[in-house]
Amino acid sequence: MHAIRFRNPELQSQLVAGLEQAGLTRLVAPDGFVECDDDLWGEVNSIAHRIRDRCFRWYFSWCDNPQHERDLMEHLRSNGLRHEIEERRDRLVFLLPKEDEAKHFFGDEAPSIEACSFCGKKWTDIKRFVTSETAAICDECIDSLHRDMHEVPKDAT
Ligand SMILES: [Zn+2]
Repeated sequence: MHAIRFRNPELQSQLVAGLEQAGLTRLVAPDGFVECDDDLWGEVNSIAHRIRDRCFRWYFSWCDNPQHERDLMEHLRSNGLRHEIEERRDRLVFLLPKEDEAKHFFGDEAPSIEACSFCGKKWTDIKRFVTSETAAICDECIDSLHRDMHEVPKDAT
């Protein structure tokens, strides 16, 4: 069973309106959650996608536990970061602007150095990122360094 409800009343009313157009009003539970099984989820989710797409270029984020959830919400609010919240029965899903992605990390998650010291790429744009106190390197640069590395024979003096 899938369940979704937008916390923002404006988005929620768009969702209900979209379901009405699709003849799916019956999926709206009395508490506002839209509930359905796998067979209708694709249709419900595509209606939700249209609403998400009108907000910003987005990605999803969610937390493993309620404390992290509260921390992330507090982080978003206190920094004035744009976000929308989607409720599921068991967790919150944060709809966040892709372009703000680097600002969404806080506490232990964010590295102290945010760009590769070699190529300058942002750590959020790359798969692996290794940092030390003073420098960082991305997986692409590690690969290319390894490729270029060869043993230098020492002069036997
Ligand atoms: Zn790099």
